[in-house]
Amino acid sequence: MVKSIPKMLKIGSDKFETKTTQMADVIILGAGPAGLSGGYELVKRNNKHVFLFEKDGQAGGISKTIKFRGCFFDLGGHRFHTDLPEVSGLWEEILGKDFLVRKRLSRIYYKNKFFNYPLTLANAFFGLGILESLVIVSSYLKSKILPSKNEKTMEQWVSNRFGRKLFKTFFKTYTEKVWGIPCDKLSSDWSAQRIKNLSLFEAIKNSVLPRGKVKAKTLIDKFYYPKYGPGMMYEEMARKIVEYGGEVRLDSSVRELIAEGSEIKSVLIESDNKMGRYLAKNFISTIPVNQLVKMISPGADKHVIEAADGLRYRSFISVSVILKCSNSFPDNWIYVHSPEIKLGRIQNFRNWSPFMVDEENKTTLGLEYFCNENDEFWKMSDDEMIKLGLEEFAKLNLIAEKWEFLDGFVVRIPKAYPVYDSSYIKNMKIVRKYLDTFSNLQTIGRNGMFRYNNMDHSVLSGLWAARNVLGEKNDIWDIND
Ligand SMILES: Cc1cc2nc3c(=O)[nH]c(=O)nc-3n(C[C@H](O)[C@H](O)[C@H](O)COP(=O)(O)OP(=O)(O)OC[C@H]3O[C@@H](n4cnc5c(N)ncnc54)[C@H](O)[C@@H]3O)c2cc1C
Repeated sequence: MVKSIPKMLKIGSDKFETKTTQMADVIILGAGPAGLSGGYELVKRNNKHVFLFEKDGQAGGISKTIKFRGCFFDLGGHRFHTDLPEVSGLWEEILGKDFLVRKRLSRIYYKNKFFNYPLTLANAFFGLGILESLVIVSSYLKSKILPSKNEKTMEQWVSNRFGRKLFKTFFKTYTEKVWGIPCDKLSSDWSAQRIKNLSLFEAIKNSVLPRGKVKAKTLIDKFYYPKYGPGMMYEEMARKIVEYGGEVRLDSSVRELIAEGSEIKSVLIESDNKMGRYLAKNFISTIPVNQLVKMISPGADKHVIEAADGLRYRSFISVSVILKCSNSFPDNWIYVHSPEIKLGRIQNFRNWSPFMVDEENKTTLGLEYFCNENDEFWKMSDDEMIKLGLEEFAKLNLIAEKWEFLDGFVVRIPKAYPVYDSSYIKNMKIVRKYLDTFSNLQTIGRNGMFRYNNMDHSVLSGLWAARNVLGEKNDIWDIND
């Protein structure tokens, strides 16, 4: 499938051996949902000379599933939901009957009580008591009469729609755990994308009226989920790409993109301690955009590098544990709002799919923490993290019966969330202007676009990028805008 050019290269340090240069039509950098969807679309439309390079040993990106001692662990919990027919069609085409429909139950833990999430009227007011409920209603009315004129920050955006009191009760602590910055420093763009079309009035309407046509994104009470977790979807996609004649190379890190004028000509890939040079006509990248900018040679101007450096990501750690215990709790996941507990969210994988756990008397959990790459928490040993996770989990008294810890592991995800701070729009403008100078390079996906994409947005960006290569003119930046 691949044309080999018998030309030997000597690259950089002596650590690397030389390797034959190889040629493809399209090279895709990263085999997460975005890259794989692009690759699949291309090979399905008969473009066989497609190479995907993935630095990890497994396809799927953040949406991969890890198998450990017979059980399956999602990194986070990945609901498959979309209002994009071409994405749902693709997901069904890939997995068919292994794509299960699951019921959603998620709650908020706050001040030793559980509240339904999405919030329901009776439950929230009953849980908070009459006095606090009255304060919430009056604060909501105040926000309607005297809203913040300026809606620049997350705090202003949410307070305008829910009132300040409800913002402080149900949004502030959790959001600050996730982002690690105060809500008045977080741009309103995140809320606008994430809590689309939802207000206290909508939430009340949805909790009182029968669940029919619920429009707001956060209020979906059913979702699709692959039998063995999200990784099953993307591993199957990778398998199909290879079956159709494309190549998916795992354990292959992109190190450099070499440009000549307005075109990227080749990439240097490090794999197995060797460096290989690959040429192509088109390049599609899902690599974090701040890293991509610095991989292109000749190097970008100083102001572009500075803008790229200004783009920050929040990291995520999943402490995955197996407990001996058959009756756990009914939720798919629980948000831990209580500020005295560092733990942010708990996943109960059996409730995502019963096939995730191999024995009836086991419960598997994902205990989720948010932090910055290389901060104190990030550097804690795996054993310390598992110990802390179990201690914090025990404090919540979620499982009534006696349970026992069997085993566990920790996954650190360095660039899980693009941070929408006050300078990201300005920085992205500079970075995009620079990347637009390359006529044959498209940047897609969550980190490639520096956008809070769900899987469906990333998948669509892959499909559109592939079709652009084939002559269509889709504006990828319209996705999830
Ligand atoms: C905790 C959490 C929960 C989530 N829950 C949901 C959910 O319920 N529903 C939903 O739809 N979405 C959810 N998401 C979002 C979802 O994970 C992403 O939208 C999706 O994985 C993005 O796909 P992607 O291909 O754009 O990027 P990624 O998944 O980040 O894939 C990019 C790939 O590029 C590879 N790569 C990076 N650098 C290099 C390099 N130098 N060389 C080679 N390869 C490289 C990476 O290893 C990775 O495999 C969640 C995300 C998080 C963090």
